[in-house]
Amino acid sequence: MKDYEVIIVGGGPAGIFAALTLAEGGATDVLLLEQGKGIGKRIRHCAGDMLCGWGGAGAYSDGKLTLSTEVGGHLGDFLDDRALFDLLAEADRVYVEHGAPDRLFGDLTPEVEELGEKARLAGLEFIPSRIRHIGTENCVNVLGRMYESLSGKIEICTDCHVESLLAQEGRIVGVKLADGEIRYGRHVIVAPGRSGAGWMKGEAKSLGIRTMASAVDIGVRVELPATVLKPLTDVSYESKLVYYSKSFDDRVRTFCMNPYGEVVAESNEGLVTVNGHSYASKKSDNTNFAILVSSSFTEPFDDPIAYGRYIAQLANLLGQGVIVQRLGDLLQGRRSTKERIAKCLTRPTLGDATPGDLSFVFPYRHLKNIIEMLQAMDSLAPGVSSRHTLLYGVEVKFYSNRIEVSKELETTVANLFAVGDGAGITRGLLQASASGILAARAVADRLGHSQ
Ligand SMILES: Cc1cc2nc3c(=O)[nH]c(=O)nc-3n(C[C@H](O)[C@H](O)[C@H](O)COP(=O)(O)OP(=O)(O)OC[C@H]3O[C@@H](n4cnc5c(N)ncnc54)[C@H](O)[C@@H]3O)c2cc1C
Repeated sequence: MKDYEVIIVGGGPAGIFAALTLAEGGATDVLLLEQGKGIGKRIRHCAGDMLCGWGGAGAYSDGKLTLSTEVGGHLGDFLDDRALFDLLAEADRVYVEHGAPDRLFGDLTPEVEELGEKARLAGLEFIPSRIRHIGTENCVNVLGRMYESLSGKIEICTDCHVESLLAQEGRIVGVKLADGEIRYGRHVIVAPGRSGAGWMKGEAKSLGIRTMASAVDIGVRVELPATVLKPLTDVSYESKLVYYSKSFDDRVRTFCMNPYGEVVAESNEGLVTVNGHSYASKKSDNTNFAILVSSSFTEPFDDPIAYGRYIAQLANLLGQGVIVQRLGDLLQGRRSTKERIAKCLTRPTLGDATPGDLSFVFPYRHLKNIIEMLQAMDSLAPGVSSRHTLLYGVEVKFYSNRIEVSKELETTVANLFAVGDGAGITRGLLQASASGILAARAVADRLGHSQ
């Protein structure tokens, strides 16, 4: 039976970048196993294809590469700031080589610095970040080119679900596939993404690898006319703002700002939640962004994912899906109706959200935090807290349990590396890709393939 030098589990950005790094270093005896379809066979709106298949969740992501060491994951726990900055720049270069646009948004100009000052006066912290926007429609092409770069250099198997990781005497020896076949490998890099996080947690448990629960981020997707946020989005493509609420001293933040974008519903393991994206070419009249509040728990309850699911289920129960409400209605203590939404100056880009009342969904703490944040943002960009601002609920970000790993991203099982979002180490495209590079370099070193 063949014994591979390296087996990679998962064909999302983390797995792909691990493969590209190994191939570039001259490793040929590499097998990449992806449970979903090949990129040409994925159908975007088919539930099973949305997160799985070549490119992983990255294929239909918004394609914003954030070149900041402060967002997108926990790699800063393993690398110093300079080394992480260089690694992110390297991953970014690979995206550009495979067709990501040259243009970078958000350089630290005097206007950006001025925005930071104004934010401070409004009680907000502004985190500037440089962003390359691939655009939802281009991600598939970029990831497809990466597949072409790898073909003929390594073995790639799609529609191949890995059922379990096999270890002997504290060392990884291979993987067992869904059909019961075994693939032996001296090193295994697992990159299962969020869709494989439950599987990863189970495997970690059976291998005796420690995991830690992460926080859950719960909130709303805010939509308003793009002109309202123009003072921010013209200066900094993605404005990341942080607010500490007066009532609870909770950290509240904006996330994933989409100038001229669209709000979308997504199905999330049986739940319908909300998200937003923007196309590189097609533009709406609105800008959307999320306001999220982080919640973590200690004892006797320490299951933030169950808590987040509970809140999302409540919205689904009341709204049969996503609920939309005008901020004005929320503040007046009444539900939104079809007629009230029809009178709203912000035209909703998500047509099939149910007009309703988010105060029946969110705990007081979350609702208060969200309203305070909107009011603080209103001093920075007047109109944010208008009664015509639309709130869609709920947006919820579940983060995978964090797998215990070394600085090289090796688990406590020798030669088993865990990378990307599924290992709870990253939360975005660029850090996920960088984590794949980091682990692959450690493996290449051991194989004597390092450049
Ligand atoms: C709608 C949306 C928009 C987003 N927009 C952005 C954005 O603009 N910018 C940004 O930085 N991030 C964005 N993200 C997040 C980004 O997509 C992820 O951070 C990134 O894809 C994580 O990469 P990954 O390789 O760790 O995991 P994934 O991309 O999830 O890939 C993991 C792969 O592993 C496979 N797999 C899992 N388990 C197994 C198994 N047992 N056997 C075989 N294969 C398995 C899965 O099928 C999947 O293809 C977005 C995500 C979504 C859902």
